Amino acid sequence: MSGKGKHQNDRHLLFWPISLFEDIPGLISGFGTRYLTKKKLESMSALLALKLVFIDQIHSDKFQFIDSHGGQLLAGDALITRAAGLLLCVRTADCLPVLIVEPKTQVIAAVHCGWRGTAQQLLLKVVNFMINDLRCAGEDLLFAFGPRICGHCYEVGQEVRKAFANQSTKFIGFHSHRQGERKWNFDLLEANLAQLREAGVNREQTEVIDQCTYHHSDWWSYRKNGLQAGRLFNFIGWRTEKA
Ligand SMILES: [Zn+2]
Repeated sequence: MSGKGKHQNDRHLLFWPISLFEDIPGLISGFGTRYLTKKKLESMSALLALKLVFIDQIHSDKFQFIDSHGGQLLAGDALITRAAGLLLCVRTADCLPVLIVEPKTQVIAAVHCGWRGTAQQLLLKVVNFMINDLRCAGEDLLFAFGPRICGHCYEVGQEVRKAFANQSTKFIGFHSHRQGERKWNFDLLEANLAQLREAGVNREQTEVIDQCTYHHSDWWSYRKNGLQAGRLFNFIGWRTEKA
């Protein structure tokens, strides 16, 4: 599955590849476009002999560490593993997907960062767990930030801002809105990058896919497409033979 992620019989890009992860042997990863349907994702993972693992996303700060996939659907907003043969997947439509790899300990994670998870510092909690419990070296962690609704397109109300009041990273990502004080433009990427800085992660350890789900038509946007919006599949996994 090298190359640009283009399906042979499809003129659309199925997923956006991550340059930062490109040279890591055995790693499969990408941010699915709207053309990567669940069916296509399933056949892709079957082809690679990977077991697809989803999580019941609940907009929380809960993450699940798994060493195998027993088949039951766990609840939370991030999946972490060091086992080969699993394809971790989080679904988004405007929220920010983050894929993480630490090549030495072979720990990988897929994180779903909506405003609620961001307010509860989910990403920071995942990183701290990887470092403290799974012995990942902070400086060896690599991060890919996928397509999300950008700060210009994402308008939020006072209740969202309030949820960030007690956070150590405070109101990073909030920008005043043209309509005044009760509305804000919120940048999920900025807020989550601030959490990484809190964990001591450098900008060089991160790759940002500069695509807005609202602006660009290759993605699903809940805000734009409403109930018609599908979900984007963001995936990461180790192939069984890590040659
Ligand atoms: Zn935008």
